[in-house]
Amino acid sequence: MSTELAADVIVIGAGLSGLLAAAGLQSAGARVLVLDKGRGVGGRLATRRADAGVFDHGAQFFTARDPQFRLRVQAWQAAGTVKAWATGFTLADGSFKRDGETRFCGVTGMSSIAKHLAQGLDVRVNTKVVRVETEGRGWLVTIESGECFSSRALLLTPPVPQSLELLTTGDFPLPERVRGELGKIEYAPCLAVLAQLSGSSLIPEPGGLWFDGEPVSWMADNQCKGVSAAAGAAVTIHAGPQFSRAHWETPECAVTAALLAVAAPWLGSAPVQTQLHRWRYSLPLRTYPERCLVVREPAPLVFAGDAFGGSRVEGAALSGLAAGAALLEIPGLIA
Ligand SMILES: Cc1cc2nc3c(=O)[nH]c(=O)nc-3n(C[C@H](O)[C@H](O)[C@H](O)COP(=O)(O)OP(=O)(O)OC[C@H]3O[C@@H](n4cnc5c(N)ncnc54)[C@H](O)[C@@H]3O)c2cc1C
Repeated sequence: MSTELAADVIVIGAGLSGLLAAAGLQSAGARVLVLDKGRGVGGRLATRRADAGVFDHGAQFFTARDPQFRLRVQAWQAAGTVKAWATGFTLADGSFKRDGETRFCGVTGMSSIAKHLAQGLDVRVNTKVVRVETEGRGWLVTIESGECFSSRALLLTPPVPQSLELLTTGDFPLPERVRGELGKIEYAPCLAVLAQLSGSSLIPEPGGLWFDGEPVSWMADNQCKGVSAAAGAAVTIHAGPQFSRAHWETPECAVTAALLAVAAPWLGSAPVQTQLHRWRYSLPLRTYPERCLVVREPAPLVFAGDAFGGSRVEGAALSGLAAGAALLEIPGLIA
């Protein structure tokens, strides 16, 4: 198989952190290649288009508290990619909790943000990286097909356990202290049921239900949210972390039936089609104290993603921006 001198930086992961880092690097003049194993871009900013409905089944909304991130969000709003969705949602007891903080979402689904960011970048999807190793003072990255790409620096944005596993495929001497710190970062799993209903749901405007508990932690009506144009409601049901962990191996039909039974008071119409998605890594249970982690020797390596500095969509965005800036400080990065 051939080796291409692909880029100044190879970014593994076309989630929000990887795409924002890649965009920043490219606009500063770096050659960037983004590789992702998924069918499309976005990672956990995920929107599934089923036969009838459209479902946001990963991240549901995001905040923009940081001034730097708020400016980005304003630009996405101006581009028609993002909209302000809500300042609160209904709770399990039927009361409405408004805390005044704006939650944003993608106009046509959360993945539309990633699609917007990926424009103009060299992003290869359906491309699973299986090996990363150093080559001189740079990197050699091998994908499932056996093809190799080389770069001066590597940015890893998958969930931390996946990044660490990838590093074990090669020869990189990750300092023990760093490996120990990163090894402590675990994520909550999340089982997600996607239910297409025959008619409307009973989830009140603006289309979200905050349960914050077990066995269901969240429900959303993607029709009410403005994401699904199908005739019936397209409902996302997220199980809480305890239920998700306990039922990780339970067959799909049993998990779906159990969660639909809990959700029943809010469904209002019969489910005509369901799917189950198993998120092994949904939210980090602890985070690394800095927005990215840079290892300079023997070849430049940066870790980023929502486990760095702050969790969730906003944390992932800030981590990606920080990682891009940190890479640009590495002498000789840009050819
Ligand atoms: C069910 C669920 C609900 C959530 N709800 C919210 C919410 O309401 N609000 C909020 O702010 N956040 C929420 N989040 C969290 C939010 O989605 C994440 O914090 C954020 O999207 C993480 O972005 P990231 O770039 O760090 O990682 P990711 O989006 O996970 O991107 C990493 C990418 O790396 C790729 N990858 C991994 N291994 C390889 C490999 N070997 N080769 C190639 N590619 C690889 C993956 O395919 C993925 O695309 C939720 C997440 C889930 C799953």
